[in-house]
Amino acid sequence: MPPAEAQEAQKSLRYDSGNSNPASASFESWGRYPTYAAKVIPLHWQSDFPAVARDLHNGILPVGLGRSYGDVCLLKDGNLIATPAMNRLIAFDPETGLLTAEAGISLAQILDFAVPRGFFLPVTPGTKYVTLGGAIANDIHGKNHHVAGTFGRHVTQFELVRTDGTVLHCSPSENREFYSATIGGLGLTGLIRWATLQLKPIVSRLIDYEGIQFHGIDEFLALTEASKEIEYTVSWVDCTSTGKNFCRGIFMQGDHSTKRAELKPSPEPKLVFPFDAPGFALNHLSVAAFNTLYFHKQMSKRQVALHDYEPFFYPLDKVLHWNRMYGKRGLLQFQYVIPWNNAREGTVAILKEVAKSGLASFLAVLKAFGDAPSPGLMSFPKPGITLALDFPIKPDKSFPLFERLADMTLEFGGRLYPAKDAAMTALHFQAFYPEWKQLARFRDPMITSSFWERVTGDQPHL
Ligand SMILES: Cc1cc2nc3c(=O)[nH]c(=O)nc-3n(C[C@H](O)[C@H](O)[C@H](O)COP(=O)(O)OP(=O)(O)OC[C@H]3O[C@@H](n4cnc5c(N)ncnc54)[C@H](O)[C@@H]3O)c2cc1C
Repeated sequence: MPPAEAQEAQKSLRYDSGNSNPASASFESWGRYPTYAAKVIPLHWQSDFPAVARDLHNGILPVGLGRSYGDVCLLKDGNLIATPAMNRLIAFDPETGLLTAEAGISLAQILDFAVPRGFFLPVTPGTKYVTLGGAIANDIHGKNHHVAGTFGRHVTQFELVRTDGTVLHCSPSENREFYSATIGGLGLTGLIRWATLQLKPIVSRLIDYEGIQFHGIDEFLALTEASKEIEYTVSWVDCTSTGKNFCRGIFMQGDHSTKRAELKPSPEPKLVFPFDAPGFALNHLSVAAFNTLYFHKQMSKRQVALHDYEPFFYPLDKVLHWNRMYGKRGLLQFQYVIPWNNAREGTVAILKEVAKSGLASFLAVLKAFGDAPSPGLMSFPKPGITLALDFPIKPDKSFPLFERLADMTLEFGGRLYPAKDAAMTALHFQAFYPEWKQLARFRDPMITSSFWERVTGDQPHL
C-alpha cells in the first residue's frame, strides 16, 4: 500500500466503544469478574515499550480491548499496557491479501479497511471488538475452525518486544519457538508490536445462510457430519430444557456468497445497553422463556436466507455493553473442548449437569472443532466438540457448579479455554495444559497476569 493511501485509510479507522478508552484509569474484562485496581498505561505508535517498562514496578501486562471474559487480561495492583491506540496500518498487498498492522488495531477496524477492498478476516470470533494482538495471544477460533483452524495459522509474522529491549522477528521459520509460545501465549512472552495477517478474498458482504432445527445430540452430530464442506457452522443450544426437548437447538451454517455485490463498510453500532440490570433479571424462568421463543423464532425446520455478514458473525455487537445485562456482579463463561472419543458422552453429561443445577445459561453455543493443528504451544482448540456457556454470577451456586463441570471435562479428556475463564483451579489448569511449564520458560520476567498467578501458583508480582 503506498504511503499516501495508507494515511487515507488510517484516517477512516473508527475508534471502538466499549472497554476501549485507553485514557481511562479503569479496565474491566468482559465478564466484569474479578474486578481489580491496576494502573492503565496507553501505548501509541511512538511509544518505546522497554523504556516505559523500565519505569514500572509491580509487574506489567499488555492488554487489548478487554474482550476476554476473565483474568487473562487483568493484573491486580499491577500495570496494564493498553494497546488500542497503537493501531496503525503498516502495509497491504491487494494482490496477495497480506495486511500488516500494529497489534492494537481491532478486527472491526481491519474489516472497515479490508471489506471495501474485497477481503475478509481468515478467522473471526463472535465479536469484532478484539485487537489483532489479543486475537494472537489467545489464538482465537471462529465458526470456520473445522476448515481454517485457529487465527494463529493465518499470522505469517510478528514482532515481539521484550521488556529488556530485545526485539524478535517471529515467523514459522524465524525465532520459531517464540512464534509458537506467543500464539496462545496469553500475552506473557512480550509485547506483540505488529503482525502480518493473511486475509481471504470475498466478492460480497452476504452470507448464504441456512438455519436447521435439531432435537438431541445425535441430530447435531449428523448435521455436523453433513456440513463438512460448508465454511461456517455453529449451533445455539437450549440448555434449560429436559425430557423430549433435551439438547434441542438451531444449527446455523453459511458460506460467503459468490454473487458479486457492493462491498461497503458497516454502519457504526448505535444501540448501547444503558444500565446495569438488576441481578434477578436473568434467572432460570426468564432464560427458559427466551429459549422457547428463540427455538420457535424459526417457524420451519429449515430456513434459507441471504444475510449480511454483520448479523451472521456479530449478532451481539449490535448492542454495545450488552454485558451490563448481567448486572453489577457480572458473568462467568465456561467453555470446554472434549475430544471426539468422549465428545458425545461428555456433552450429554455436562448439559444434564447444567440443566440439573437450575442455573440457566443465556448464550449456549455448540460447535465441532476440526483437526487442523494450531501453531501455538498452548492453543485451546483440539478436534472434538466445544460448548460455551454464559452464567450470571451467583457466588454460592456458580463456583461449585464450575468446579463440577471442570472435573467432568477433565474426566472426559477435555480442557477449558483460558480466554473465557475466571474460575478454574490450578490443579485443573495444570492437568489441562501440561505445556504450561514450557510456556513459563518463554515468559518475559516482568510480565504476568492475575490468571497466570492464579493457575500456576507463581509468586505474586508484588
Ligand atoms: C461476545 C464475545 C464473543 C467471543 N467469541 C469468541 C469466539 O468465538 N472465539 C474465541 O476464540 N474467542 C471469543 N471471544 C473471546 C475473545 O476473542 C478473546 O478473549 C480475545 O483475545 C480478546 O481480545 P482483546 O483485544 O479484547 O484482548 P484482551 O482481552 O484485552 O487480552 C487478551 C490477551 O491478549 C494479550 N494481549 C493483548 N494485546 C497484546 C499484545 N499487543 N501483545 C501481547 N499480548 C497481548 C493480553 O495480555 C491477554 O492475555 C469472545 C469474546 C466476546 C466478548
